Amino acid sequence: MQPFTIAIDGPAAAGKGTISKAVATHFDLAHLDTGLLYRAVGARMLTGEDPIAAAHALVAEDLGTPALRTAETAQAASKVAVIPEVRAALLDFQRAFARRSGGAVLDGRDIGTVICPQAEVKLFVTASAEVRAQRRFEELRDRGYDTEFATVLAEVKARDDRDMNRSDAPLRPAEDAVVVDTSDLTIAQAVAQTVDVIEAARQRRPR
Ligand code: C5P
Repeated sequence: MQPFTIAIDGPAAAGKGTISKAVATHFDLAHLDTGLLYRAVGARMLTGEDPIAAAHALVAEDLGTPALRTAETAQAASKVAVIPEVRAALLDFQRAFARRSGGAVLDGRDIGTVICPQAEVKLFVTASAEVRAQRRFEELRDRGYDTEFATVLAEVKARDDRDMNRSDAPLRPAEDAVVVDTSDLTIAQAVAQTVDVIEAARQRRPR
């Protein structure tokens, strides 16, 4: 059986991560959160390292530290993500992961457009900036961070702006992506909708 690649793209806090994990479990596929790669490079940049050298030097241990989840690292990630040499350094790893035996789910910003344009299923998971900021705000508050909604909204918009307007691999849906707007959906509804789209693609697949 050929590998079955599922590409899930979309802006920050649209629900991609949660949906990707659920889909990977449902279809028993490996999952790669590609944002972690950029966060790891961003975290190394914050310690003074050159981002291009950092992207070439990434090791598995870089991907497991709690510091990757902070708002500061998220902004740093979107800054290093505009550098073409950083993106190029991370390309082969992502492509190899996508074609691993059995298949895989990759989530990020450019999976359907650049990393895996041949993916069997492409999804673009989105939601309004306000809804995304509200989710991120509640998540941060639950984790004990003292922050303001307006700050989180401004950060979400700043990251959208950098991700959508960079010249290399800007965030946008692939032409053949199915758009899932999670603004008015519960997690369970969003996952169910996504599983249906993938199941339909699996049924259509030549055997
Ligand atoms: O998905 P996450 O919020 O962890 O991504 C952090 C940042 O990494 C994004 O804002 C984006 O700038 C960058 N990124 C990217 N391409 C990807 C995944 C993430 O440019 N495939």
